Amino acid sequence: MGLLALGTPLAWPEAKQKANQVRQWGIEQLLAIWGKAKGKERDALLWGDEVEYIVVAVDEKGHKVRLSLSQADILTSLEKDEELANGGEVEVLDLGIKEPLPKFHPEFGRFMLEATPGKPWGIDFKDLLKVESNMKWRRIIAKQHMADDEVPLTLTTFPRLGTKDDFVKPFYPLSGEALRSQFVPDEIANPHIRFPTLAANIRSRRGRKVALNVPVFHDKNTPLPFNDPTVNYDLHTWPEDGDVRNGAVKEGHVYMDAMAFGMGSCCLQITFQCKNITEGRKLYDQLSPLGPIMLALTAATPIYKGFLVDTDVRWNQISCAVDCRTTEELGEVPLKNDRWRIPKSRYAANSTYISQDPRLRPEYMDPDLVIDEDIKKRLLEGGMDDLLATHFAHLFIRDPIVVFSEDLNELDLNKTDHFENLQSTNWQHIRFKPPPAENDIGWRVEFRPMEIQITDFENAAFSVFMVLITRVILSFDLNFYIPIALTTENMETAHARNAVLEQKFYFRKDPFPHRVPRHTHFQAMDTANGTSRANSSSGSRSPSIPSTPTLPPIESEYELMTIADIINGSASGFPGLIPLVESYLNSMNVDVETRCALATYLELIRRRADGRLWTNAKWIREYVAKHPEYKHDSVVSEKICFDFIKAVEEVTEKEGRDGSVGWEMLQNQ
Ligand code: GLU
Ligand code: MG
Repeated sequence: MGLLALGTPLAWPEAKQKANQVRQWGIEQLLAIWGKAKGKERDALLWGDEVEYIVVAVDEKGHKVRLSLSQADILTSLEKDEELANGGEVEVLDLGIKEPLPKFHPEFGRFMLEATPGKPWGIDFKDLLKVESNMKWRRIIAKQHMADDEVPLTLTTFPRLGTKDDFVKPFYPLSGEALRSQFVPDEIANPHIRFPTLAANIRSRRGRKVALNVPVFHDKNTPLPFNDPTVNYDLHTWPEDGDVRNGAVKEGHVYMDAMAFGMGSCCLQITFQCKNITEGRKLYDQLSPLGPIMLALTAATPIYKGFLVDTDVRWNQISCAVDCRTTEELGEVPLKNDRWRIPKSRYAANSTYISQDPRLRPEYMDPDLVIDEDIKKRLLEGGMDDLLATHFAHLFIRDPIVVFSEDLNELDLNKTDHFENLQSTNWQHIRFKPPPAENDIGWRVEFRPMEIQITDFENAAFSVFMVLITRVILSFDLNFYIPIALTTENMETAHARNAVLEQKFYFRKDPFPHRVPRHTHFQAMDTANGTSRANSSSGSRSPSIPSTPTLPPIESEYELMTIADIINGSASGFPGLIPLVESYLNSMNVDVETRCALATYLELIRRRADGRLWTNAKWIREYVAKHPEYKHDSVVSEKICFDFIKAVEEVTEKEGRDGSVGWEMLQNQ
């Protein structure tokens, strides 16, 4: 969630008045990093995973589960422990191996925790085998610092967040100043001033509360039409209480009204440090089309606010939960005060490619990309090339949301706080991360779409798979380019219930490198500092882009494929990501033990893709459907929720004792 600076946050609209200053200073800081780090070479190939947890308090006697708002206590207790260990290496789970203690971090929800390995993983294949035990270790350490009734679970969401029962511990009344939610108290969010300010200023900027409407899953006894029975239309405390009377609630949908319903979700993220900026830019582009595929494969979010819903993943809910766009920017009213209409939320699929790769055809770009021309001009003047300048000029169309008055006194070019302010609140599915100001870290790419999985075996498998895919992309120089708008479309497709088996996704047919005539591409079009394309741009839009006559039409490069086609290979000739990983491993001289261990992870991915193994979403749906108390009316009652949480706890605990049990318990059998 980024670093937690302290200070006096400005309320909106004071913050709005400082937006230009923050943006300009952010761009100067970016240019300073760019100047220092663009030529950095040979950074170590490192990577790291981030696991997010919810903390659940289990009341065995009362047969009730609640979200425990104990993040601060747990983190304080963990910090003390880390001090004890002095940052040194410690034996992992009696396995005879030593690693530095994992690191724990706060997250948006006061019921959330995030954990990362104590130091980044390296290039060695052996490191891939340490991930699973390290994840299990993290879970055990976290649990040791919790109260006896508390348990860390890797569920994307708590099934009954926002219901009328007392779903948080300790209890807090509703209707707080920051969220103004009719379903969750302000205390649900991390109390650090950044978080309530983020939520409040998003709401103020937007001019109403955020609105999350998720289509309900229509079971045989679900009322038709379905009108969310938990919505209260008679509240009059805050002006925003009127939202529900003004059309915020959609028929057929479960309605939610606060940032916590989105940013209270957990994911599995992987960050790769690249050897130089060129490699980083290439990975950023090539990982982008994989985002929706991995989202569908890791689907784990079929319940909201006590109802089964008709989607399987968290993504769009987070997108709505932080959507600060005004009615003008949304296109609901004509533009008057705002600068442009913006098609996506700050949390959304990427809209840019950034690699100076001759295979990047202009037609792949978004012809309607909104950019801030002044910012682009400044970046070009500062020596940045056109593609990268366009990327940042697109991110910087947003306002900074949390502005601390203390930070506005003096511009410090040895810091990156203003740049990070915008960068870290652009939650795209892939993030391109410049080195921090200290510069001892390289250019990094963060892969963000995956849903957290119930078991550590699964989380390790998906992490390892993503690492291997990056190695395959780089060593085989693979080409996954498709028009970027299709990746946005694929992200929508990934939401459908059981998308992993039932939907098709646009994917490039031939991923192998071929020689391409250079003059048709961006690399040839850009001059050294990339001004040639800038000249052809008009207004705040990106350049109108000519087609490339010497190459086949782009429509012939891709087709609709199932996830099984993409992962395992298709009859029409796509080699499949797993076979590509296999041939990479064959070329790498990996020892037998490592190869066998990696094979079990790859097998999980293979079987997920072809349906032999269920997604977590499917398993959760089946669990609810088979529960004796389920009335086939889409309602996930307190008792079902209690039993479900107990079942999840059992799976994760059993897995702790015996490697693959957890995985097997989630199987389709
Ligand atoms: N929890 C968020 C998600 O599920 C991501 C927050 C972060 O960037 O750390 O996507
Ligand atoms: Mg996080």
